[in-house]
Amino acid sequence: MTTGSPLLADLIEALRCLPGVGSKSAQRMAFHVLERDRAGARRLAEKLALAVDRIGNCTRCRTFSEEAVCALCTSTARDAGLLCVVETPVDQLAIEQATGYRGRYFVLLGRLSPLDGLGPKEIGLDALAQRLAEGEVQELIIATNPTVEGEATAHMLAQIARAAGVPLGGELEYIDRGTLAHAFGERHTLS
Ligand SMILES: [Zn+2]
Repeated sequence: MTTGSPLLADLIEALRCLPGVGSKSAQRMAFHVLERDRAGARRLAEKLALAVDRIGNCTRCRTFSEEAVCALCTSTARDAGLLCVVETPVDQLAIEQATGYRGRYFVLLGRLSPLDGLGPKEIGLDALAQRLAEGEVQELIIATNPTVEGEATAHMLAQIARAAGVPLGGELEYIDRGTLAHAFGERHTLS
């Protein structure tokens, strides 16, 4: 598109990094903030910069955190004997919002996908095996997604649990699978 402003063209192009935002939506957003909400746009820019600079991954469960160990891992209100394995921080959030699960998490940050270079080490299975060997976890709950890769990942997780002598939790008894499927479905349409 042609505008009189190279900065505006750059802004429109940059907005397209957001999921589901094509060129039309990006144009609409850029014109909207310049015409009507410069304060909101400035706040957004600041929050984005802060989040990108400061949020890393929890050294214990690998979810997003600006602390070395996240609040869920340090909370004494959570049952340390229960560990739920999810693929991504979004899946973790879906479980937190949709269920009464009160244990802790381990976030793979992916799923087994050899074609994408994601093997057991890349998705943290070494760290998970080590965690199970510590003996605190009494029950492992596998909540990977019902895709081919998610099922292959679940299979390997079950082997790791068996090797560590940790029983697998019931089929997500804490979890309303309909709600979760809905959350996952939305995520998949975005990606
Ligand atoms: Zn954590």
